[in-house]
This record gives sequence, structure tokens and C-alpha cells, in this order.
Amino acid sequence: METKDVILSLRTNKGLSQDELAEKVFVTRQAVSRWEHGDTIPGTETLKLLSEFFGVSINTLLGSPRQLICQCCGMPLDDSLISREKDGSFNEDYCKWCYADGEYTYSDMDDLIDVCVKHMTGKDFTEEQAREYMKSVLPKLDYWRRYEELGGGEKFEELKKQLIDEFNALHIEGMPKVEKLNALVGSYVNLEYRLPNGRMVKFLDDNATYLGNQLECEFGGDRCFGILANMDFLLVCTYGCGGSDPELVLYKKR
Ligand SMILES: [Zn+2]
Repeated sequence: METKDVILSLRTNKGLSQDELAEKVFVTRQAVSRWEHGDTIPGTETLKLLSEFFGVSINTLLGSPRQLICQCCGMPLDDSLISREKDGSFNEDYCKWCYADGEYTYSDMDDLIDVCVKHMTGKDFTEEQAREYMKSVLPKLDYWRRYEELGGGEKFEELKKQLIDEFNALHIEGMPKVEKLNALVGSYVNLEYRLPNGRMVKFLDDNATYLGNQLECEFGGDRCFGILANMDFLLVCTYGCGGSDPELVLYKKR
């Protein structure tokens, strides 16, 4: 199906007029009519709104031009399997088992292979074949390529331990002891901070992977500590509900 047919069928299935759909996604009725005639396709922001409104992925709205593959486990994705961000929007790079609530599930490729192999072994695959297959496929996927950037495998675990020690050595007032770091995607934790001179800055790369966690403040209240690091730096901040009103506590080169 092409985009024009996808939008037409989603709209009519919901029993909406062009006018009503237009209102939902803040465009004119004429814009909807042009989409459905195939004269134009919705812009990026409108696609996001349509995706949210209809509960289908942007890939589906565009007529499924590519077969989405989970960039962590290699599973082919359809809309029922695609992961979601905390705000409910789709993250079309991962399946819902490998990425949930802004966090990656697997930081160890062997753990993931063990899980996958269990599901794959059967009349088509012996366990060994399944294992070999996964070992050849996974390293080519985005997640594991980026994970290699963080050191990969044993080095990754070492880096985690090291960073936890460094965070705990900071002795920041009110911040509990750090026990655990999770792999987090940059776009999810890239908060904007106000500098003393009033300028707003962001420190992270939306596409990179970092290690971090959220910690409750020991003094109670509704602000949390956010900690984040990679090989190059440590960052500590506090923020309110859902990342609102972030304040930088510390940014330190390692
Ligand atoms: Zn997956």
C-alpha cells in the first residue's frame, strides 16, 4: 500500500471525515485531501502526530518501504512488536523486548544469544546452528556496533564498575550510593541545562549510548538525581517529574 491508501484506510476505519482528521493533527482539510490523492506526503512532525493518533509506526504510514529489524536481536518488526518510548511513541529501531521505557534490556550479547537460541531451536535449527547464526548476525546490528564503542563484553562490565566507583567517590550530598548503571540512549536523556550566564546547553549525542541511572534524593521531595557517563565524562544532574526543570550538578571529564 502507498501512503495515500494507508492514510485513507486508517481515517475511514476510524469513521473520521477529512476535516476531523485535519483537526487532530493540526493541518487543513486540503492537506489531508492532498495526502489521500497522493499529491503530497505528510512532513516529519505530522507523521509523528499521525503515528501517535493512529497507533501505527511511521514505517507503516509510509507504506512499509522497509522491513524493520530490531537493531539489538535481529527480529523482523511489525507494529505490534515495535518498542515504545516512555511517552508512548514508537522507537522503530528496536523490538519491545530489547528496549523498554527508554532502557535497553541486554548489555551482554551472550545473554541475548542464550534467550534467542531457546526460541529458535527446533526442527529447522540445532542449538549449535542457531548459536552460530546469531553470532554472525548480531555484531552487524546497530546496537551491538555502538556497544562495541563503549568497550564491549568484559571491558564493558569493567567500565561500568569503574564508573560506579567514580560516581560514589564524588560524595554528592543527598545522592544515594550508586549500585547499577544501565545503557541509555542519548536522545532519551539529553536534557537541556541553563548555564549561569543564561545560555541553554545540551551535552549529549542523541544517537550515542551512555551508561546511567536515576536515583531518588535521600532528602525526599520530588526531585531525582540523574547520573550519566561514558568513557569521557561523568555527569550528575537533578530534575523534577519526567525530567522537567533539570539542573546540572556536575560535569567532569574523566
Ligand atoms: Zn529485539
